[in-house]
Amino acid sequence: MLVLAGEFRGALRTLFFPSHCAHCGVATYDDRDFCDTCIQVIERVRAPACDICSQPYQGEIERFECPNCADERFSFEFAVCVVRSRGPVRELLHRLKYGREIWIARVLAELMREGLADPRLAGRDFDALVPVPLHALRLREREFNQATMLAGHLSKITRIPVANALKRVRFTGTQTRLDRRHRMQNLRNAFAPHKNADVKDKSLLLVDDVLTTGSTLDACASVLLEHGAASVCALTVARG
Ligand SMILES: [Zn+2]
Ligand SMILES: [Zn+2]
Repeated sequence: MLVLAGEFRGALRTLFFPSHCAHCGVATYDDRDFCDTCIQVIERVRAPACDICSQPYQGEIERFECPNCADERFSFEFAVCVVRSRGPVRELLHRLKYGREIWIARVLAELMREGLADPRLAGRDFDALVPVPLHALRLREREFNQATMLAGHLSKITRIPVANALKRVRFTGTQTRLDRRHRMQNLRNAFAPHKNADVKDKSLLLVDDVLTTGSTLDACASVLLEHGAASVCALTVARG
């Protein structure tokens, strides 16, 4: 009887307070974050994709390393990216970062949860989630760091603690016009360990919203490894 009453209350709640699609806003009635239409246009990163940087690949090969990763080694072991940064996800990332719709971080962290089941991550133990930091100037302008918010939600899901182990010490400005080598040069020395950050012998999972070229995650991972981290992998919502 109690169970039935609970179910009834649940049904009433969804009838009168339906959940809404995070992208288009239509009622979903069943606590899902996306409606049927939007979920279908969200492009998952699926095999075949690069084992290191998750760059999707056109072809039949199941496992491979893209030319970028074959050319120059990243400092992180690999980066798992869950979806392509296109359509609804691209728009949600934009609304989170520039529209200050911070509730979107939870929705995106739910997508990241899928990334935890990726064979590269499944079965691995991490001591801490490390969000990619923003420079203090940008943090002041935006008032929050989306990577920290994603890591916070992911921490609730995984019970892995968040370690704000890094800080951004150089303002690198927008990097979109630079090629890969110049981005990497520009980012060298942009990050430093936080005072009191204890990363020695720790297995760390870097968390960010998007991987575009991988240079930011690379720079972060190299600082963590230089300061004694045992291993550094990465997880992002999207692959640019
Ligand atoms: Zn929708
Ligand atoms: Zn790659």
